[in-house]
Amino acid sequence: MTAPALAVYPGSFDPITLGHLDAIARGCRLFERVIVAVLRNPNKTPLFAVAERVELIRGAVQHLPNVEVDAFEGLTVTYARQRGARALLRGLRAVSDFELELQMAHTNKTLAEDLETVFLVTSTEYSFLSSSVVREIARFGGPVAHLVPANVAIALAQRFPKA
Ligand code: ADP
Repeated sequence: MTAPALAVYPGSFDPITLGHLDAIARGCRLFERVIVAVLRNPNKTPLFAVAERVELIRGAVQHLPNVEVDAFEGLTVTYARQRGARALLRGLRAVSDFELELQMAHTNKTLAEDLETVFLVTSTEYSFLSSSVVREIARFGGPVAHLVPANVAIALAQRFPKA
């Protein structure tokens, strides 16, 4: 019996947006199982702690039966290998994403020859959307309900209460 086709979708997800969610849903149609993996990055000061981000993603993917949410540290390829993944999922929004993503994909290929990076092209409606855009709007009290899952909108409203 062959192992189920498993993909790891690594990222910061600070917080998860509807763009991420769209990519996860599409990844689920390509792979039998998708692990959304939150990177513990000691070099960044996040808005939400890793455990909070994991919980927010879990809340947002409840309707997708073949998704698991996890956190990891260190090299993505090492984590992907440990989990038995055959692919890494990454999203491409614009040309500006391309250079860094291509560099990462090539680098990862030198580290793990058998692991493929699969790029999902963002849905047009979310091509402008990033976690940093969401954080910026929420910080200044603007509306984000059209940009993030409902549970994330609630968490942002709690984090930045209106005066
Ligand atoms: P990272 O810090 O690793 O870039 P992010 O959480 O910002 O983490 O992004 C994780 C992945 O999701 C990246 O491949 C990114 O290109 C992709 N992504 C981010 N925003 C969107 C979006 N709106 N639509 C599709 N993919 C996205």
